[in-house]
Amino acid sequence: MIIVKKIKDWKSLRVSNSLKNKTLGFVPTMGALHRGHIELVKKSLSQNDITVVSIFVNPTQFNNKADLRNYPVTINSDIKILDELNVNYLFLPEYKELYPDDYKYKITETDFSKLLCGRFRPGHFDGVLTVVMKLFNIIKPDRAYFGEKDYQQLELIRGMVKNFFMDIKIISVPTVRDKDGLALSSRNLRLNAIQRKIAPKFPEILMSDLSIEQIKSRLVSEGFKVEYVEQIGDRRFAAVYLGKVRLIDNVKI
Ligand code: AMP
Repeated sequence: MIIVKKIKDWKSLRVSNSLKNKTLGFVPTMGALHRGHIELVKKSLSQNDITVVSIFVNPTQFNNKADLRNYPVTINSDIKILDELNVNYLFLPEYKELYPDDYKYKITETDFSKLLCGRFRPGHFDGVLTVVMKLFNIIKPDRAYFGEKDYQQLELIRGMVKNFFMDIKIISVPTVRDKDGLALSSRNLRLNAIQRKIAPKFPEILMSDLSIEQIKSRLVSEGFKVEYVEQIGDRRFAAVYLGKVRLIDNVKI
């Protein structure tokens, strides 16, 4: 696996003979890789000649400084995992590379991004859409892979690609869960042993046939702090806290 840190180095590779007439799949991540990320990578490997993964903990999508500071970083094991999967390129940029303007320019969606997580994380989806737009413009993939775990993000990226006429196919991957049902997330690394035991109640209660109000009170009685539980169409979305760790999930009803 070749590790690329500079945009100019990737740009010369992108037009080189080694990538000519090859299909390119792209998996953007914030690292601390787990089996959820690995599913996206495997799908890209199976559908493309070349797979590029990026790892960048994007500060502009963190509305909470402590959350950014505490975000897990496991870069050495991430590199090993990707190398063993036979990923071709890892793009590992620094903030200054991606944000030469220090985030004066941004992409904003004004409707769906204000609901669900957007109500509680102001500016979060501006940061997400902006960094994904930048990464798409740099990497120039044919296909890009996103998890249903972050369903609102997936829908907003689909909308951005469609409405900015970008020639990139967005491919989604179902949520990968632990044996006990908890959706895999880099933030799970921050749960202590007691919290980790309680955590699988979150998807269990969310998937039950209780009403939204009943779900909220069941979650509270199990020790979660509920940010929101909402149903839109046939999908139920929720965000909760266990201590300081924020967990999100969504399920089709
Ligand atoms: P992140 O590193 O958390 O920004 O996630 C990078 C990509 O992996 C996003 O497209 C996520 O939706 C996806 N992802 C994260 N967790 C999971 C999971 N448990 N199952 C499937 N995809 C996931």
